[in-house]
Amino acid sequence: MSIRVTVFNEYLHETFDEKVRGIYPDGIHGTIAAFLKEADFSVTTATQNMEEHGLTEEVLASTDVLIWWAHLIHDKVSDEVVERVYERVMEGMGLIVLHSGHASKIFRKLMGTHTERLRWRESDDKEILYVVNPSHDIVNGLADHIVIPHEETYGEYFDIPEPEEQIFISWYEGGEVFRSGCTWRRGKGKIFYFKPGHESYPIYHMKEIQKIICNAVLWAAPKHNMTLTEGHTPIPMAEKK
Ligand code: ZN
Repeated sequence: MSIRVTVFNEYLHETFDEKVRGIYPDGIHGTIAAFLKEADFSVTTATQNMEEHGLTEEVLASTDVLIWWAHLIHDKVSDEVVERVYERVMEGMGLIVLHSGHASKIFRKLMGTHTERLRWRESDDKEILYVVNPSHDIVNGLADHIVIPHEETYGEYFDIPEPEEQIFISWYEGGEVFRSGCTWRRGKGKIFYFKPGHESYPIYHMKEIQKIICNAVLWAAPKHNMTLTEGHTPIPMAEKK
């Protein structure tokens, strides 16, 4: 069975901004879903205006990896849905948080951060993503750096807990640097934060960026589901008696 991916997008900029709609006529989620389908994943999309944001118990129960893009209305995401996503991550669902998703309720809950601190600027800067973990599954098949001609600038300090793995570090034309690809594990779930993807640039149409997201889905998908013993237990080794 192919890996089941749900792409969540707040789906707002595309509805009121001509430029963004021109780049993503089917929404950012539509573009991401299309290249994932082409890579043979089984894909569903969810948007914030849907009932329960499209992230019902049923949808999440049949999701191996959830992708999250949001920017303007993080605070309108229901706490009940956030709790539900959190529980699924603990059980082993992979989570890929894109771009401004760093400020989402779910990412902040998982990271234990209470700020959305980073510096940012929209000045059409060039971004160069440098691979700093060349043997990692997420960079499989890529060159050692990727140039994005124009992107929103994000800069340090980025308020995240120490990443378990640093995959990319970005440089911007203005001189800033940013930890643009990082992983953590929470419970049985794997989490990848990936910075590129400001809505007014065609970044999710770039082949290299698509490759990274596909690789990240493969990496984050649960490979097995071990049953864990908990609470008071008898001595596991009989010979110890
Ligand atoms: Zn942005």
